[in-house]
Amino acid sequence: MADIRTRYDALVIGGGITGMQAALDLGEQGYDVLLIEKYASIGGIMVGLNKVFPTLDCSSCICTPRMAESSHHAHIQVQTWAEVRQVEPEGDGFVARIERKARYVDEDTCIGCSKCELVCPVDVPHEFDQCLGARRAIYIPHGNAIPQKAVLDVEHCIFCGKCEKVCPTECIVFDQEPEMVETRVGAVIVATGLDITPMGKKPEYGGGRFLNVMNPLAMERVQSSNGPYGRVLRPSDGKIPRKIAYVQCAGSRDRSIGIPYCSRVCCMYALKQALLLRHYIHDVEVTLYHMDIRAFGKGYEQFYRRTMNEGVRVIKGKVATINEVENNDVVVRVELLDEGGRVEEHRYDLVVLAQGLVPAWHAHGVVACAEADDGFMATPEAKINPSYTTLVGVYVAGVAAGPKDIPDAIVEAGEAAMAAAGRLQRIGWHRAPAAAAAAH
Ligand SMILES: Cc1cc2nc3c(=O)[nH]c(=O)nc-3n(C[C@H](O)[C@H](O)[C@H](O)COP(=O)(O)OP(=O)(O)OC[C@H]3O[C@@H](n4cnc5c(N)ncnc54)[C@H](O)[C@@H]3O)c2cc1C
Ligand code: SF4
Ligand code: SF4
Repeated sequence: MADIRTRYDALVIGGGITGMQAALDLGEQGYDVLLIEKYASIGGIMVGLNKVFPTLDCSSCICTPRMAESSHHAHIQVQTWAEVRQVEPEGDGFVARIERKARYVDEDTCIGCSKCELVCPVDVPHEFDQCLGARRAIYIPHGNAIPQKAVLDVEHCIFCGKCEKVCPTECIVFDQEPEMVETRVGAVIVATGLDITPMGKKPEYGGGRFLNVMNPLAMERVQSSNGPYGRVLRPSDGKIPRKIAYVQCAGSRDRSIGIPYCSRVCCMYALKQALLLRHYIHDVEVTLYHMDIRAFGKGYEQFYRRTMNEGVRVIKGKVATINEVENNDVVVRVELLDEGGRVEEHRYDLVVLAQGLVPAWHAHGVVACAEADDGFMATPEAKINPSYTTLVGVYVAGVAAGPKDIPDAIVEAGEAAMAAAGRLQRIGWHRAPAAAAAAH
């Protein structure tokens, strides 16, 4: 059982762009923040994206400076490979129980030299590359990871000891145990972000079964210069795809699968990827099938027009099924909505499903905040206090509160940080513990 060992002003759960921004906004005002990230690196979805709409700026070039700033900030303590197990109100604040998962590597002494990865004989599909590339059983999460520290995947390790032999700092600890720590905080910000709609929700599209039906995060990695192939190739045979289709609303706006809402970013990320494909493969034909295009943000409508001007075919059509044929090519059966519902079939080298966004985390059993009907965290005062949850002192921002793009996530992070700072001032939490206790 853990002792109460630490005290911070705020706990931020989730180290994506939203969590980092909220932590920085609080840290800049002098509040001490504990930022908890379940993965071995901060950065969230954004650090794995290729470019961002509508500017086509390099995503990791924007994200990695925020990652570095968060991890070096005097008022921010970043803890990766950790998960919050419980947050309970106590006095004016909260007690959080946090599990620091076993990394099997001593973080303080690992120097990120990669010598262990080079000798490890075990290849494992790499989650960061959506399992299109491989990593070793001991690995540094990716080239832009922060911290640049190794983590050992005990599920796949064969305990050959090769990594231990070459490690210059003797920091590999095969018998490391997870640790439970407790900390007291005055405010909590939930920024746990998104998963994409599981492919199994739309089995008729063959995602996860057909090699050349791809998820959109995989396409982000394939388009990235540091991605698994270094250029755009299709997974089944490494061929350059010359006929590609996008299927919109593949897991959004669909009551039959319990996801009735619009995921807001899928039209834009699909248009972005389609346009970039036209840049990367000179003779590629890209067709995007949609119910209607939702391009709601600043400069987004212009971006949509540009995409069509640069040769992407945008067709109003509802895709019914996707089937695999010879050569692992895929056939899309589509009902053309502007042509009286006429059904056509077209054969493609590759199909990308524009999957929707679902919450990555549910508070249930960890912190007593209610969820909305759509599964994202409820924000009962959304119009005036968008970051307020149903529990006073716990705030939410970014996709944890509902689907949104990066600019909106950043704005919400600032709002949540402001709300948390206001609360810390009101309850007198920010002063030294003894002074705060005397004030009550
Ligand atoms: C394919 C695709 C392309 C996109 N392209 C663009 C684009 O070009 N432009 C744009 O504006 N938007 C784009 N988006 C949307 C963008 O990804 C999101 O707006 C953004 O990532 C939201 O950031 P976030 O921090 O809220 O969530 P996330 O990026 O999901 O970060 C959440 C973090 O919390 C961590 N976490 C989750 N649960 C826990 C837990 N229990 N404990 C601790 N940590 C936890 C996660 O590991 C993750 O690091 C795209 C989305 C997709 C799917
Ligand atoms: S675990 Fe050892 S060998 Fe591996 S990166 Fe860290 S210091 Fe280098
Ligand atoms: S002990 Fe495990 S992690 Fe280390 S080299 Fe062998 S298989 Fe890889």
